[in-house]
Amino acid sequence: MIDQRRADGSLRHLITLEGVRRDEVEALLGRAQHYARALARGSAYNRVLEGVQVATLFAEPSTRTRVSFELAGRRLGAQVLNLELQLSSRVKGESMLDTVYTLQALYFDVLVIRDAEAGVLAHVAAHVAPQVSVLSAGEAHLSHPTQGLLDALTVREHKGAIDQLAIAIVGDIRHSRVARSAYQVFRLLQARELRIVGPPGLLPESEEFPGCARFETLEAGLEGVDVVMMLRIQKERFAATRVPDAAEYFARYGLTPARLARARPDAIVLHPQPMNRGIEIASEVADGPQSVIRAQVSNGVAVRMAVLETVAGRLAQ
Ligand code: ASP
Repeated sequence: MIDQRRADGSLRHLITLEGVRRDEVEALLGRAQHYARALARGSAYNRVLEGVQVATLFAEPSTRTRVSFELAGRRLGAQVLNLELQLSSRVKGESMLDTVYTLQALYFDVLVIRDAEAGVLAHVAAHVAPQVSVLSAGEAHLSHPTQGLLDALTVREHKGAIDQLAIAIVGDIRHSRVARSAYQVFRLLQARELRIVGPPGLLPESEEFPGCARFETLEAGLEGVDVVMMLRIQKERFAATRVPDAAEYFARYGLTPARLARARPDAIVLHPQPMNRGIEIASEVADGPQSVIRAQVSNGVAVRMAVLETVAGRLAQ
């Protein structure tokens, strides 16, 4: 397991939710909720990261995650620099670790990294100087911890205690880091029932997601659930032969209003975005009254504020 803590036991890195304790997740969600309310009031500013330098290094595309880390850092008084990896020396063959050592020599305190390769984040965390924190902004198909936290915050805000809820994670689970982090956080918070739903080829190996019921049809998988968590079809992680035909996928697994009617009438719908409208989700659902997809985006800023404050804020010292 990746060691994410300082000697005193406090969280220094956030690379995975695996091994993060329930009280730590509750504390992060509590702070995030505080910031979410402050954001809605227009008053989410403080200086707990004054003098802290944050760098974002994204080796895969991102809109929401990168922007919300940047906004979160700025709202807490940090200086945030976005490194364009496509333009940097990494494309000339420089290793991630050399890039990281350069940033360390420039006195960056927090490195927010997205990478397509599993294991790069743990490797970086194991080599950075003790004052540097490493935060995952998404790692291969493995982990996206701040997404998991923002999903939990969004569900809790709209549906209350997670231990009362039946949650279905739907679609391309096999390739999804969002699904893995959601599973970890919902399991930690003891969701009443967790389901994974998708075509057999996109469900994970049988030993993954222990404790989840598996469904191969959307109709059965959505029956009576409180929360429907849709995922993007991750074409970039498919072997070419496995890319499903879009029309056929929508016909069998697309979330339409008729299929959503199988869930509880007050069920909510999440999607991490970017959405493939008309493939995994119909626009009527994405933009409909049960969708909380835009709330997820706002909560992303609040969660990243809580995480940055926890690993690098003056309050944490
Ligand atoms: N934005 C999320 C991620 O980076 C979800 C997705 O891309 O499908 O994992």
